[in-house]
Amino acid sequence: MSAIKEPSFRESVDMMFNRAVALMELEPGLEEKIRVVNATYTVRFGVRLRGKIETFTGYRSVHSEHMEPVKGGIRFSMGVNQDEVEALGALMTYKCALVEAPFGGSKGGLRIDPRKYNEKEMETITRRFAYELIKRDLINPSQNVPAPDMGTGQREMAWIADQYARMNTTDINARACVTGKPPHAGGIAGRVEATGRGVQYALREFFRHPKDKAAAGLTDTLGGKRIVVQGLGNVGYHAAKFLQEEDGAKITGIIERDGSLYNENGLDVEAVYQHIGEHGGVKGFAGADYAEDGSKLLEAECDILIPAALESVINLNNADRIKAPLIIEAANGPVTAGADEILRDKGTIIIPDMYANAGGVTVSYFEWVKNLSHIRFGRMQRRQEETRHQLLVNELERLDAFMGEKWSMSPDFKDKYLRGADELELVRSGLDDTMRIAYQSISEVWNSRDDVPDLRTAAFIVAISRVAKAYTAKGL
Ligand code: NAD
Repeated sequence: MSAIKEPSFRESVDMMFNRAVALMELEPGLEEKIRVVNATYTVRFGVRLRGKIETFTGYRSVHSEHMEPVKGGIRFSMGVNQDEVEALGALMTYKCALVEAPFGGSKGGLRIDPRKYNEKEMETITRRFAYELIKRDLINPSQNVPAPDMGTGQREMAWIADQYARMNTTDINARACVTGKPPHAGGIAGRVEATGRGVQYALREFFRHPKDKAAAGLTDTLGGKRIVVQGLGNVGYHAAKFLQEEDGAKITGIIERDGSLYNENGLDVEAVYQHIGEHGGVKGFAGADYAEDGSKLLEAECDILIPAALESVINLNNADRIKAPLIIEAANGPVTAGADEILRDKGTIIIPDMYANAGGVTVSYFEWVKNLSHIRFGRMQRRQEETRHQLLVNELERLDAFMGEKWSMSPDFKDKYLRGADELELVRSGLDDTMRIAYQSISEVWNSRDDVPDLRTAAFIVAISRVAKAYTAKGL
């Protein structure tokens, strides 16, 4: 055990922020304005459950309103506290700036263990929490738009959207009050997979940058790379599944609440996911080594480590034993500020949370735009695009007939080319574009300045300078 005191999550975020602003030339006082949390609302409410009243504590923190609405998930977990939501709200400000989603930063949470309650009870509690926030405009399509986070998903977002609609019967944009809704309740295709998909796109873009790859001592492509994932929830499952199925990466380790699984030849992510669904944990999964102390596997020999569960899992106690040359922070704040320094000194490359898990908020942005425009993406263009493509295919078919044996269309060209993009394809395309451009902006700062030590500092610099410009333009 290390004797050095670990900073809190919020202190960690502040330390990382301070390191970046020390390298920037901001107008005096602006730095402090950007750093501070604008407001945090704490709510305590009672709900009658199983014949007795239970009191719950929840938060909604607004870090920065340089752009509105502010955006950030709602987390249901026993670990929720003011410090945590404030740190997460600050990260949202920088994350949105980095991926150019036009939002300020916010975050919410309810201190609850969702596994203790049945669906009806969860609905009552969620609606009651939402009611408290809605009546104070802390959920509102033009002011504050939550999304899912740890312990919440489509189901909770649908309840929140419905609660808002009941309380604002004439708001035509009511559905835009929250994102991450199910498709039949105003959601968007590809939102559930978005954060994990974004992790995949982030890694693909990293591997397109030879210098960055070399800094981590990695070569070639993602194919065959050994990956350890912590947390096979929404983010971890999708990231691991796509990296395995589409990029040929080997998921050698999976860490869950009840322990870890390891197989140097790779685990079948879908099979492990199904096993967790059926048995409530990874224990008993055939064809892998199981260890009860799962966190030990964070220290395994691998090419890429993906912490996708919770914060502060890589800390002063284990940082020096982490062997992965590349860590991509799918979770928020998995590496503490102290560990960050140890890893930097060791030469470990970290793709920071602010960028790595921004896929969720990016697709949330698309969902919000869809709700405000009241039409699904692609509805106007798709068939027109197909008709125009048909013209070209007709010409190629004439050419095909004319050329005889000498030339013919590739077998699947016609089908692929004729099909206009549906909403899911458009969402993935928009997400891919966003993740590529954001990485390029960070990498450019990292590689062009000798005083910028890592991708995290570069990401903070890019994000803070955009927030600073927004404040300055407003005439603060
Ligand atoms: P989730 O609740 O769907 O999944 C979390 C997973 O981690 C679960 O499978 C859980 O069993 C596992 N887990 C919990 N404690 C663990 C432990 N001690 N060791 C190993 N595994 C453990 O949550 P999620 O939505 O996937 O979020 C995960 C992280 O990603 C969080 O930090 C969250 O803030 C961040 N994030 C999520 C989104 C999103 O769109 N869902 C977006 C951005 C960031």
